[in-house]
Amino acid sequence: MLDPARFAALSSFSPAPLLVTSFYATTDAKRNSRHAAVTQVKDLARARLAELKTSGLTHDQQKSLDGDFARLTDYLETHAFTHPAERGLAAFSCAGADFFQAFPLPHGFKTTLLVGPTPYLRPYNALVAQAPPSVVVLVDQHRARAFSFHGDESHNLFDVTHETGSRIRQGGFQGKDERHIEHHHDEAVHHHYQDVADRLLHAFQSAPFQYLALAGHLDELHKFERHLHSYVAERVVGRFRADVRAATRDEVRARTAELVTAEEKNRQQDAVQRLIGASRTNGGLAVTGLKNSLGALNDRRVQTLLVAAELRHPGRHCSACETLFETEPRCPRCEAPTVETADIVDEAIAMTVHQGGAIRILPPDSPLAAHGQIGAMLRY
Ligand SMILES: [Zn+2]
Repeated sequence: MLDPARFAALSSFSPAPLLVTSFYATTDAKRNSRHAAVTQVKDLARARLAELKTSGLTHDQQKSLDGDFARLTDYLETHAFTHPAERGLAAFSCAGADFFQAFPLPHGFKTTLLVGPTPYLRPYNALVAQAPPSVVVLVDQHRARAFSFHGDESHNLFDVTHETGSRIRQGGFQGKDERHIEHHHDEAVHHHYQDVADRLLHAFQSAPFQYLALAGHLDELHKFERHLHSYVAERVVGRFRADVRAATRDEVRARTAELVTAEEKNRQQDAVQRLIGASRTNGGLAVTGLKNSLGALNDRRVQTLLVAAELRHPGRHCSACETLFETEPRCPRCEAPTVETADIVDEAIAMTVHQGGAIRILPPDSPLAAHGQIGAMLRY
């Protein structure tokens, strides 16, 4: 997954007058074979070139696009696609500017190949939102270590030690001096906590994270937590015991992932309950089931599409009006015969994203299972 600096560089990439090729696909072997993906790229590339030629392409633009398509085909033919987190692929290319970047995605996407002046990032954003970034901070009275996790990537955010002294009696001192040492120590710990809280706020401002886990002695964490800025504090997902010096990154990563997974599951349950509740209310701005969800998409009313990860369903589409149907042999809008498509769910996810809506991929055992495993929150 991209760190924010690389993402910003990609979003602002604009090699005019050359064009950028953006490509998305499912790389999960159960759903899309490598051979099929290569064939799809070749077919789509031919179709895109034909469209672009009618509007006029310069020699350099066409040469760059030919380079993009060759590079993509080569990438698909030679890349291993064995990482468990790689279920989809996003790739952006401008051969004429010697630019090629490819990223694994936490979920597949309908095979899509688009050419434009800048990278097409809506699917990337929608899919990356399925695996939100998290941070863990390990903190005691002297030291703090923080790591960020996003998909399969992890980074050290900071490792800071402050000299805060000790409250342990030195011996020989009594009364005023001892109280002075204690007071000095408390002040130093307060400054240490405040500095760590400031560092977390700074980290959040430069690369927003969805969740923050706190690790250390639980009573110390309680005192530290009061120093957190409200933007950061509202992201606290939980706390766990850890030895700040000895804990390894892999250990805290696993504990953080447990907390995040539990919280994500809660939020998914809430979202599904809200959807089901709203779909039962008059004017509730929600629908459930494949037929209703496709109808809402055709009317461009979908704000968020909720769908079970493994849902697949054959369907039909009208390429003239870009509408999707479960079974209609003829398009009710333009009377043209509809065309069969192997998986209308993939089409629905892609259409939601193209329309600027959000998607939420659910586990197969969510309460949406009783409602056809698909539903949508509506804009109006
Ligand atoms: Zn039509």
